[in-house]
Amino acid sequence: MALDTLYILIAEDEPRQAEILKFNLEEEGFRVGLAPDGLKALEMIDEALPDLLILDWMLPEVSGIRIMKKLRKEKETKSLPVIMLTARGEEDDRVRGFEVGVDDYVVKPYLPSELVARVRAVLRRSHPEMQEEKIEYAGIELDLVKLRVSRDGDPVELASTELRLLKALMSHPGRVFSRNRLIDLAWGTTIYLEDRSVDVAVRRLRKALNEGGKADIIRTVRSEGYAIEENASRY
Ligand code: CA
Repeated sequence: MALDTLYILIAEDEPRQAEILKFNLEEEGFRVGLAPDGLKALEMIDEALPDLLILDWMLPEVSGIRIMKKLRKEKETKSLPVIMLTARGEEDDRVRGFEVGVDDYVVKPYLPSELVARVRAVLRRSHPEMQEEKIEYAGIELDLVKLRVSRDGDPVELASTELRLLKALMSHPGRVFSRNRLIDLAWGTTIYLEDRSVDVAVRRLRKALNEGGKADIIRTVRSEGYAIEENASRY
């Protein structure tokens, strides 16, 4: 889950604040939607359930508190993580917010970095696997929050499937993963794929990792699968 891009919906009627926040969250690797009023927010939640909602309390059409009450009543949105934005001094809003079940609140004006930190903290509660933010091995660094990979400090461009493959292989250096296991880990159990698709993805992963003539640390185990070299630190 951590490697899928998490989707955050911002319900905020002040366009400049919404845009700045969107930009900052996208920089962190999140997918972001914007709703300029309460009605649109409810529509967008209906269309695609976000992983987290940032909810301005004072919204046109449908207010933040009415949205919260509605969300908490319905099965699909009962546990949707919500961070409420409130104006300074509006203590009553904050109290009412917690009463209707917001997960956290941030007082305006806020620093985007502060809000991003709150977003991460709330998401970590709903996605425990996000606790681990980075995997490092043999000079390869995989940032599970920003979904970025680097090798010896150089950025490595990977598509999401290759990223999940790398995450799986790096979770146990030396261990041989069968193609079936890798399909489960990188594509999901609901999909049917030929073994060849794994080989193609591993080839792309290798090419990206070895860019610039770096040593190949992925081991092909004939008729078994793939592994990351166990003593790869010497490369
Ligand atoms: Ca507002």
